[in-house]
Amino acid sequence: GTSTPVLAVRDLVKRYGATVALAGVDLELHAGEVLGLVGANGAGKSTLLKVVSGAERATSGVLELDGRPYRPDSPAAALSAGIATVHQDVDAAIVPGLSVAENLLLDALADGSVLGPLTPRRLRARARALVGDSFAVDLRRDAGRLTTAAKQQVLVARALAARPRVLVLDEPTAALSVAEQRRLLLDVRAIAATGTAVVLVSHHLGEVTAVSDRVVVLREGRTVAVSQPPYEASGIVAAMLGSGDR
Ligand code: ATP
Repeated sequence: GTSTPVLAVRDLVKRYGATVALAGVDLELHAGEVLGLVGANGAGKSTLLKVVSGAERATSGVLELDGRPYRPDSPAAALSAGIATVHQDVDAAIVPGLSVAENLLLDALADGSVLGPLTPRRLRARARALVGDSFAVDLRRDAGRLTTAAKQQVLVARALAARPRVLVLDEPTAALSVAEQRRLLLDVRAIAATGTAVVLVSHHLGEVTAVSDRVVVLREGRTVAVSQPPYEASGIVAAMLGSGDR
């Protein structure tokens, strides 16, 4: 459509010394859209996510959120601006020894919006209010002892608790069983249906094309293709590898 994109990335460049990780990335993301992001190893996917999620500063280029300049200088700044990211390493983002409820409320506990001493019961009530009745992970459990798939669900729920405009998922299915992958992809569609835009990074072309409204291909730090359904996998692979276009 012609609506203002939720997130726009224009001519984004990121250099690490002599290495050009991003050489001019352009993309637009709209509300309620699932955007698949694919590319071979080293194509720049992680770097793009780091810049968008406030973990790294771009060398040049422009980010816009709802049409306004967006220059996050930290992950916390990105989150409060409306971009929530769930990184691939779920164990780094889960605090073991704390309950699922505490892990869900971590951002609120950290920024002081949960004040005063909370009993475990009141903490659970707050967490439940946040995630709703359909959230199936036991709020009392030690989050460090959950399966990877359940940790992932906790992190997605924590990210959504910030009511982001954009949810970024970095290879969320990498360590999941086939059944867990399917469930996560259904969750992704349900999240997008609420209006939150989702960026899904994955190495699995089949799952990306199954769930995405559009697929962006990165190669050597550039956007080299944007595909829409019906997807032609061979064309996407050719764009990833740089064959068939020269
Ligand atoms: P993968 O699928 O392997 O995660 P990717 O598409 O995410 O790959 P990036 O990790 O973004 O690719 O890397 C893009 C390029 O930038 C690579 O050449 C990489 O070596 C380089 N690079 C990334 N981070 C740094 C860094 N901190 N210092 C130097 N070079 C870096």
